Amino acid sequence: MGMLEGKSILITGAASGIGRATAEKAVAEGAKLVLADVNDANGEALRDELGGETLYVNCDVTDEASVEAAVAKAVAEHGSLDGAFNCAGILAALGNTGENSLEEWRQVIDVDLIGVFLCTKHELTAMAAQGSGSILNMASAAGLIGWPGASAYVAAKHGVVGLTKAASLEYAEQGIRVNSICPSYVLTPMVEQDLFEGALGGDEELIAAARANHPIGRFARPEEIAEAATWLLSDRASFVTGTAMSVDGGYTAP
Ligand code: NAD
Repeated sequence: MGMLEGKSILITGAASGIGRATAEKAVAEGAKLVLADVNDANGEALRDELGGETLYVNCDVTDEASVEAAVAKAVAEHGSLDGAFNCAGILAALGNTGENSLEEWRQVIDVDLIGVFLCTKHELTAMAAQGSGSILNMASAAGLIGWPGASAYVAAKHGVVGLTKAASLEYAEQGIRVNSICPSYVLTPMVEQDLFEGALGGDEELIAAARANHPIGRFARPEEIAEAATWLLSDRASFVTGTAMSVDGGYTAP
């Protein structure tokens, strides 16, 4: 029996990176998925690849009606919402805080924090009606420590950790677990394209310095985050709620 056998799971940001790796792992563990993203081409391609009962829905996590519709689709098509991984996110507004534009700063908060709030809100409503469920919110090592040059991202991810703790306390007695997960650098398009190639301009010394901050001596693969995410979504994590789980190769241990 798979860890998520027969469970109805919603994953946002499912079309790429960590969300995608978790979708693949969750299907292998028996889940019925609703993949949600704004990248329809990649989301639909993944749905076709995973097959079975996998569905794809266009969902912008900053738009409440869109989030509500994605949750409703999971309940209507799969009969319940047993788990949700709120993984959609962006990395932007890089550079020192004094030089950040309000518009870009707000965009990061909108997607990375308010998006997680909107998803959590509507997922909790669906799960409270059933009296069970597991929500996993994507935070980051940047939700636990500061990263210079990324204050909007750091603020959003610290916010996700706090929102998760508060919601876990509110819903624990109703059989709903709410956790967050905190990876450091994971080799996905966000890190390889937006950060390494984009912000760092492909500078090998800077990339090596980032790698050296990981006591394990390398960056993570998306599958390694998917492993922990799948477990947290499953009943095997039945006594785990309100936690911010580091999956970071020792990055935040010092
Ligand atoms: P990614 O860029 O590979 O994937 C992000 C996905 O989110 C994309 O498919 C994108 O289309 C989707 N998305 C963006 N805005 C959206 C919106 N408004 N509504 C719905 N979907 C939207 O990135 P990733 O590295 O897989 O990151 C996934 C999550 O993990 C993010 O929240 C990120 O902050 C977090 N994270 C990543 C790392 C890392 O090192 N890659 C580390 C810690 C945390």
